[in-house]
Amino acid sequence: MNHTVDVNPAAAGAEAALITGDGSGADWLARYSGSLMGVFGTPQRVLVRGAGCLVWDADGKEYLDLLGGIAVNALGHAHPFVTSVICSQLATLGHVSNFFTSPPQIALAEKLLALAKAPAGSKVFFTNSGTEANEAAFKLARRNTGSAPGEAPRRTRIIALEGAFHGRTMGALALTAKEAYRTPFEPLPGGVEHIPFGDIAALEAAVDDTVAAVFLEPIQGEAGVRPLPAGYLQAARAATTRAGALLILDEVQTGIGRTGKWLASEEAGIVPDAITLAKGLGGGFPVGALITLGEAPSSLLSAGQHGTTFGGNPVATAAALATLHALESQNVLANAAAVGEHLRDGLRAIPGVTEVRGEGLLIGFDLDADVAPAVVQAGLDAGFIVNSPGPRTLRLAPPLILTEAQADAFLAAFPAILQTAKDAQ
Ligand SMILES: *Cc1c(COP(=O)(O)O)cnc(C)c1O
Repeated sequence: MNHTVDVNPAAAGAEAALITGDGSGADWLARYSGSLMGVFGTPQRVLVRGAGCLVWDADGKEYLDLLGGIAVNALGHAHPFVTSVICSQLATLGHVSNFFTSPPQIALAEKLLALAKAPAGSKVFFTNSGTEANEAAFKLARRNTGSAPGEAPRRTRIIALEGAFHGRTMGALALTAKEAYRTPFEPLPGGVEHIPFGDIAALEAAVDDTVAAVFLEPIQGEAGVRPLPAGYLQAARAATTRAGALLILDEVQTGIGRTGKWLASEEAGIVPDAITLAKGLGGGFPVGALITLGEAPSSLLSAGQHGTTFGGNPVATAAALATLHALESQNVLANAAAVGEHLRDGLRAIPGVTEVRGEGLLIGFDLDADVAPAVVQAGLDAGFIVNSPGPRTLRLAPPLILTEAQADAFLAAFPAILQTAKDAQ
């Protein structure tokens, strides 16, 4: 018997056929609905290529991507430096399991601790996604028992906010507020309570020594880009410190330069017990992280109490290192801050836009009619990708390298897009 295996089928031209193929958008969508689970509905377009802030669909149409894969493509599409670092790491060492470690994993952990200005004893756990980072944080919270080893936990409650989105796996879903996401999957892990958004008195009333942790997003992204009111994070830090509860900040959407700062919570001048990251961290490559700040929270999970096969693998951590390096060396955060402000100012001047929120390039704005989903459609037809987290709310989370000229192109086109959407109602 001949057991010879052709280890390089690409030599026979198989690569192009595997990952590109031909077909119109309509052909691909017919195949999609015959083969992919329907949880995402019908995809808006079939995308085949990207470069910087632009993407192209299977029919050759060009779009300005103002959603950035939902706050993921921090450096746009096909960034040359990130691409080359990923390819060279994959060609060197792609996966090793967590029985082993690798230089990019350690270098990325050190880099994240530096960016978070983490105190001594701070540590990092790597994941593949935001929901997994929050699962790890949920388990961390459960270990803040407030009782002696062997005794029943005294801290049985976890506090999150109305409007919160922390992910779709069961633990993160228990932290997520939206009934439509939760109810079909009950029972969820217990003990989570949702208190009114942004209400400091409600928070102070809820947090006592039966609380293990408080989970907060500095800006609620999925709820339509709702920032916590000034003073809330400081009040949450004071209340959790007083009660011995952990303060855990979900910066999966707001972190890694999205708001023009490395972390949206930076300005509050507090040190939380933990921060979760994902979306923008890998510049489009899947990678997430839980950072525990200080000795005490870092020692809550001990050897064997949590794990992951892929989390922290050499390619994902190299992608994140490359992303952070490019963001830093190209001064991209300053661009995000400036172009974001320019976009918000421009949006405020457009008739039919009633409120504009956000920081840096995480922007939410409300319309004077329930036409946001129709605006998304009209935007696509006009060559712009935007998102509607609510019936009259739109969200922009473009690559942080968006130029002022690209922002102006959208601002100039928006009045006609809005009118088309209203006419279609
Ligand atoms: C997207 C998001 C998550 C979930 O991240 P996934 O990578 O989709 O699992 C969690 N928290 C926040 C704030 C998010 O925006």
